[in-house]
Amino acid sequence: MPDEQHRSRMARKKAVVDAAIAQADQDKGLLLVLTGNGKGKSSSAFGMVARSLGYGHQIGVAQFLKSRRDTGEELFLGQQPGVQWHVLGDGFTWDTQNREADIASAKRGWEVAQDLLKDASLHLVVLDELTYLLNYGYLDETQVCADLAARPSMQHVVVTGRAAPSCLLELADTVSDIADIKHAFRAGVRAQPGIDL
Ligand code: ATP
Ligand code: MG
Repeated sequence: MPDEQHRSRMARKKAVVDAAIAQADQDKGLLLVLTGNGKGKSSSAFGMVARSLGYGHQIGVAQFLKSRRDTGEELFLGQQPGVQWHVLGDGFTWDTQNREADIASAKRGWEVAQDLLKDASLHLVVLDELTYLLNYGYLDETQVCADLAARPSMQHVVVTGRAAPSCLLELADTVSDIADIKHAFRAGVRAQPGIDL
């Protein structure tokens, strides 16, 4: 393509992008939902924790389902000033195999999340793997969405987990559905520190 044609095409593109950026002039606390079967939901949420920490924000993280305390994200981000880190799971449901205990643990976990969602000093709250508790019916979807909707207006919340239920998708401002094209696990590679945990 001749240089001049390229230049004028890029100028038109810039005008469109600049106009779109000028239109987006609001600030608000966002609800982001990261769902789908592919890898990258929780690690994206923790990437936003790192970004937010760059601004000195206060952050709350609640990890549902998982019970392990030796993940890289907790070892590093959990130690940073301004971060409160709550590991709320008793293990995956196929480990515990006790529905009543899982429900009780989910309810105790949601009480912790409710405190985070009432705390206007928290700029960002991550609710990692929350969707599973909704999909198994351990938590009431209507209650969870009502609590999310009632949070402080400038608080950002990131929810992760596969198969996010419709009330979350409707309430969310930003939704990403991460596709599973390929995963090393299926080629026999175990979870790698720094990449998977
Ligand atoms: P990550 O924490 O790496 O961003 P994730 O939050 O998107 O992953 P989860 O469904 O929470 O994915 O899975 C947790 C673990 O399973 C991680 O170690 C992740 O690498 C791995 N995993 C994610 N997607 C897949 C997949 N499609 N097949 C196998 N393992 C996966
Ligand atoms: Mg995850």
